[in-house]
Amino acid sequence: MQVKAILDHAVAGNRISPEDALKLLTSEDWTSIVSAGHMRRNKLHDPKVVSYTAYRVVNYTNFCDVDCTFCSFKDEIDSDRGYTLTLEQIATKTEETLALGVDQIFFQGGVNPKLPLSYYLDAFTMLRDKYKVAIRALSPIELKRLSGHIAMPLPELLQKFKDAGVGSVPGAGAEILTEHMRGVLSPKKLSGEDWCAVMGECHKAGLPGSCNIVFGSEETPEDIVEHLRLLREQQDKTGGFFSFIPWVFQPQTKRFPIRHVTGREYLRLLAVSRLFLDNIANIEVSVMVMGKELAELGLYAGANDINSIVIEENVLRSSGLKTLNGAQRFIREAGFTPKRRTMNYEFGRYPD
Ligand code: SF4
Repeated sequence: MQVKAILDHAVAGNRISPEDALKLLTSEDWTSIVSAGHMRRNKLHDPKVVSYTAYRVVNYTNFCDVDCTFCSFKDEIDSDRGYTLTLEQIATKTEETLALGVDQIFFQGGVNPKLPLSYYLDAFTMLRDKYKVAIRALSPIELKRLSGHIAMPLPELLQKFKDAGVGSVPGAGAEILTEHMRGVLSPKKLSGEDWCAVMGECHKAGLPGSCNIVFGSEETPEDIVEHLRLLREQQDKTGGFFSFIPWVFQPQTKRFPIRHVTGREYLRLLAVSRLFLDNIANIEVSVMVMGKELAELGLYAGANDINSIVIEENVLRSSGLKTLNGAQRFIREAGFTPKRRTMNYEFGRYPD
């Protein structure tokens, strides 16, 4: 199919092939692609509304025995620079968060084989019972490795976490799921297949979440399309991805090659994601990573959500929105009506 025919097909709600997506990603007809992303978004969501949420990231430990080449957050196990938060420290961070009107905790850290299961269960039950916050916790690599360390099958572990109050999982650590890019990024992390398998188990256990792409390194357009294909296929099987978020790599280490991603390239990928991922309802633009100017344009290229206000983020330096009022103002100034949601896309929890 030619580009125009692919776009018409996708805007009408039909599925496009990986070959079609590759054609769009490499086409020069940028304006038509971005415009089609926006048209499709407007067919799926109220054209006047943009949603947002707010949560606090609790990076509970930075000890990690995985060696992702792009990561400057981790410290070696047993190094004297690293940390693991105590229950009291987690409690203090949660109290600070509630005082800001935010009631969601995003609990994620390094892969620390020294932490017992009880550490996680104590933290989650405290967050649920004492603070009554929503909990999104643990990326696929943390879950898979913990399951191995304590010799507990993943479904059983997920059920324990769910019973302790976890309500969703972040789709973190996907970056780009092709074998080529796993080799560049993180040979010790999960393969694309394993990442999808863990997310599938989470979805089956009733723990939905999001998924993303992080790009701007040595990936090819074919890597990007294969990544999107894997996510779409997983979503067809288990249906637990609420949203998809495209991000770009941030400069963190000298061991990992990153390149400048132009606004043009970012917006085109956003639009292609909206058109290709026909089974993922929400496409988020990250104000935190992409900055306000580009994020605003993303709302006219297929995105219907600005990701979130992140109260604390140790892995990335935040250039995003810091307050609920700031998020609402940003959305209004971009020409939309803000609507606050939970991490799980529930809209009834917060008054307008
Ligand atoms: S990105 Fe996560 S898994 Fe990879 S080294 Fe850093 S903390 Fe460890």
